[in-house]
Amino acid sequence: MKRGQTTARAGLCLRDAPKVGNIIDALKYGTQLEVLSQETWLKVKTENGQIGYVLADYVELSELKAVAIEPGNTAQHTQIMTYHPKTSRIQGQPIRIDRQFEHVIEWLEEKLQQHDISMWVTSSLREPGKAVSAAVVNPATLSNHFIGHAIDINLFTENQWFNSSKLNRLNIKDDSLQTSLTPSDEERVRRFLHDVVYASSASKIQTTLRWGGNFSPSDPVHIDDGLNIWDNAKYYAKLRQIWPEYVL
Ligand SMILES: [Zn+2]
Repeated sequence: MKRGQTTARAGLCLRDAPKVGNIIDALKYGTQLEVLSQETWLKVKTENGQIGYVLADYVELSELKAVAIEPGNTAQHTQIMTYHPKTSRIQGQPIRIDRQFEHVIEWLEEKLQQHDISMWVTSSLREPGKAVSAAVVNPATLSNHFIGHAIDINLFTENQWFNSSKLNRLNIKDDSLQTSLTPSDEERVRRFLHDVVYASSASKIQTTLRWGGNFSPSDPVHIDDGLNIWDNAKYYAKLRQIWPEYVL
């Protein structure tokens, strides 16, 4: 039996038939469901026995099949999920991201391991505060947090905590990286962020990640993949799929 829970913040319509069916109920965020069939529309049963259809994009399935992600598709595979860290290198708030951002977090987790530091996640998916229009998609104001392609973090080691002000003081550009076999805590953090910015595009994830410490104004707790800048159409398609109620 497949189970899932709804992920639409503003509620999800339960219908008596796919797409054009009558609305039977509005399901609250986090409603537990038994999935009876799985298409674009899921046939589901609620805990109180109502049977109907909901849009698959707003249900996080407990047992997920691997989804092949073809390059070039737009929002087709947008699906908000919770990332479950494989190690204790990632701690903090639940990580709510787009499934297409999952490989980035996996890669970050490997990098944390490599540099022997840990990450405390303070924020991931965020709800837009106001409606947005396709006509005025402004990358500067449209956060990658809205589509689950950004995280805010602190970094830490056994001995030190790197919060916003501490991260802000790091110069990660410096290419005279210490070659010491036992780098200091700060140097390990610096090398990690250096890899995030300068090694990500040539790595297996082939994604140019951005560190907010390079933004103006600086936002040193922020990491994203710049989708709002690099692929505005894809960004907007995802935004519309995740937050239809905000998109004009
Ligand atoms: Zn952020």
